[in-house]
This record gives sequence, C-alpha cells and structure tokens, in this order.
Amino acid sequence: MYVYLVVFAGLWYLVWIKLIYDRHRHTFRKSLEQAMNVSSGRENDGADVRALIVTAHPDDECMFFAPTIIRLAELNARVHLLCLSEGNYYNQGAQRREELLSSCAVLGIPASRVTIIDHKKLPDDPKAEWSVSLVSSTVLNHINEHSINTVLTFDGSGVSGHANHVAIYKAVRHLASTGDLPKDCVLLSLETVGLLRKYLSFLDLPFSWLLPSHFCCVVGSKGYKQAKAAMLCHRTQLLWFRYLYITFSRYMFINTFQMIPQGPKNLKIY
Ligand SMILES: [Zn+2]
Repeated sequence: MYVYLVVFAGLWYLVWIKLIYDRHRHTFRKSLEQAMNVSSGRENDGADVRALIVTAHPDDECMFFAPTIIRLAELNARVHLLCLSEGNYYNQGAQRREELLSSCAVLGIPASRVTIIDHKKLPDDPKAEWSVSLVSSTVLNHINEHSINTVLTFDGSGVSGHANHVAIYKAVRHLASTGDLPKDCVLLSLETVGLLRKYLSFLDLPFSWLLPSHFCCVVGSKGYKQAKAAMLCHRTQLLWFRYLYITFSRYMFINTFQMIPQGPKNLKIY
C-alpha cells in the first residue's frame, strides 16, 4: 500500500513540475520585462535586453548561469560575458580561455561579446582579495561601453562560496551605491541555495517557483543538453565530481535572482 502511495506522490510531483515549467515558458517574456525594466510589446522578443553576465572564472558561465544565458539568447537578447580572470590557478589560463569561448558559443554568446580580463590584481585564487574599486570600475566601463541595461552576477554567498565570486558581488553592491550607473540599468544577483536544494536537479523547481525572487530562468531537457555540452567544453575541469555536478545540480536547470537595490542608502562598503 505504501509503495502505491509513494509512486502516486512521485508522479503527482512530476506533473506539478511539468505544469510549473509550462507556465514559466508562457510567462517568461513578461517576467523578463518586469525584472529588466524593458518593454518591447513583441512576443518572444528580448532584443531590448542588453545583459551582462559577470563571472570570476572560465566555467562559471555554464556551471551557474547556463539557464539564464540560454533563455536570454533564445529571445534574441544581446548577452555579453565579462569573466574577470583567465582561471590561471593551475597555470592553464591559455587553454581555459579557449574553453570559455567554446562554452559561450554553445550557450549562444558569440566570441565578440566575451571579454576575459587578465590582470595581476585579479588572480584566480580563493585566498586573494580582489579590489572592490578595481572590479567595480571594470564592470562600470563594460556597462557604459556596451549600453548594458541588466547586470547578472553572483550573490553574497557566491553559490560555491568562492572568494572571487563574493568579491564581484561586493563590487557590484558598491557600484549600486555610487549613483554612477545608467538610470535604466538593473542589477540582479544569482541566488545561492542550500546544499540539499543545490543537488535536487530539476526537482527543485517547485521550491524555486514558490519562494519569492525577482527573476527566474528555467530550461527543459533541450536547454539542459546545451548546458551540459557547454560544461563539457571545459576539458581541463572535467574531474569525476564535475560529472556528479552535471547530473545533480539544480543550476543546470534553474536560476533565480534577487534585485540588488540601488541608491545612496547602500553606502556600506565591505
Ligand atoms: Zn568560479
């Protein structure tokens, strides 16, 4: 009897996920307009969105932001990537640069919109403290240069807790407090979820859907295959636990974002 109940509950849960996914596909354009403060009036068109994904290392883009990049590229949004290091921790910077460009091509970002910074003050190193002013000025220059109206980056926990991820959030928070950003520019931080939810794969969708967030991106099986193909471009990083990550991580299917408030109230610099 219990077996039937468990099977029934499992099936019901999967149907619920499918319903949420269908609703998300249906309402994505509208939620994009609301979150990014743009309005094109055209269905399935994100041409007014000029998004900048800011990451710390080659592979962050597909490990953490793949659902967002894929969904935005599907809507013809202009997506740029700013990666603040070459990922040179094991002296593999040159190879990792090439891997990043291949991964971006799979996700839908052309090489002309990928910028990889190689600066001695921004090393790929969890023990290095990245300068808030250097990172924020680099991001601001990129925003102005490409007329960016949406910046998407890590939150204060950096998904994996890596200090370089957290440093970007601190810099973007600082930027939000300066008043230097263009008026139409929205800042969004990728939500870090707890360990259990992180490895629930697509089964996390009801939690992501029910809990409040400012912007949510979800991909289905086609998008997942694309994200997986991008992950496989990073050959130098393909250790056994990466395959576990590809199989179980919720970030291969789902991204939720919170808005980073702007204005002088946030003058706190960490
Ligand atoms: Zn990283």
